[in-house]
Amino acid sequence: MILKCLFGCLATTRILNYANDVHNLKISDEKGNDLKWDKANHNTWRVYTNGSSSIQLTYDVKTTRSFVATNYLNQSRGFIAPTGLFLHLANQINLPVTVKLKPYPGWNKVATGLEKVEGKEFTYKAQNFDVLYDSPILIGNLEELPSFTVRGIPHYFIGYQLGDFNKVDFMKDLKKVIEEAVNVIGEIPFKSYTFIGIGPGGGGIEHLNSSAVAFSGSKVFDTQAGRRTVLSFLGHEYFHHYNAKRIRPVELGPFDYDNGSRTNMLWVAEGITTYYDEMLLRWADLESAEDIFKGFQKSIKSYELSPGRLFQSVSQASYDTWADGPFGRTADEVNKTVSYYEKGPVLGMMLDLKNPS
Ligand SMILES: [Zn+2]
Repeated sequence: MILKCLFGCLATTRILNYANDVHNLKISDEKGNDLKWDKANHNTWRVYTNGSSSIQLTYDVKTTRSFVATNYLNQSRGFIAPTGLFLHLANQINLPVTVKLKPYPGWNKVATGLEKVEGKEFTYKAQNFDVLYDSPILIGNLEELPSFTVRGIPHYFIGYQLGDFNKVDFMKDLKKVIEEAVNVIGEIPFKSYTFIGIGPGGGGIEHLNSSAVAFSGSKVFDTQAGRRTVLSFLGHEYFHHYNAKRIRPVELGPFDYDNGSRTNMLWVAEGITTYYDEMLLRWADLESAEDIFKGFQKSIKSYELSPGRLFQSVSQASYDTWADGPFGRTADEVNKTVSYYEKGPVLGMMLDLKNPS
């Protein structure tokens, strides 16, 4: 029997070696007898089942920091980045899967895009492991902001330490942004959507019907100007469920969990989403036309002044993104490369100007 963990899945920007964090693996048969196993390669475990028809695994996963792509656990919450926690049977990623959580005493809530198993507390299901891997789970002492519906579909925002600000006003604005995102495509391809606030920090990752976002609200959010950056960030992650998750480069689904999935189209998945995250705010009347032009002006100027534009195209930048390392482009590389987050939205704007509708 061959079991697989995932080598990495942060498809758009980085490969993470999740298998390295698996420790103290014990495998036993249905009678509780230990079974022999060994490592078949960097993310694969070979189990000598000895004729046993079912096996049980226990293992620890090391967690070191709270981040949208990694597992994290402390006394007040646990965040599950499923790609780094759940193993699947080799070549059987399409098997349905059920997950039962055992919350620490006092923990009150779960935030996830996974479907609940009716009648069973803290139990969730996915039609296959690919869906499970695309559905992070946050559990702990969480707070839920006032939810809203768009075209009949509920949208939730549940998170840890969300901060002190006018949550009703904030969610009213977020609803406007989401409505504009939905208006671009015209339909919503899921039964519910959840923003999962993992706590303070930076970064966000889009998933099928949820996104994991580092978030800590403050009184600054009580002004529209202060709210704008975070609304455009949330609009960006949300818009990805269209552009990146469903309208996507062919390489980005199903993922090659063993080797990663390189594509030269991140300028579309990321860059054009960045164009829309600005436009959503404009359409929602949360940003003036003048401000949005200033933003694009800044991006065009920065691109035209960067020597990297003479060395690298956005397709090359997309393909090479994993070579950048965890801290992005450094030293002289900055002058020889372009950012698809900067040039991509400008191209998005130009395509939009070319095809007015
Ligand atoms: Zn993005």
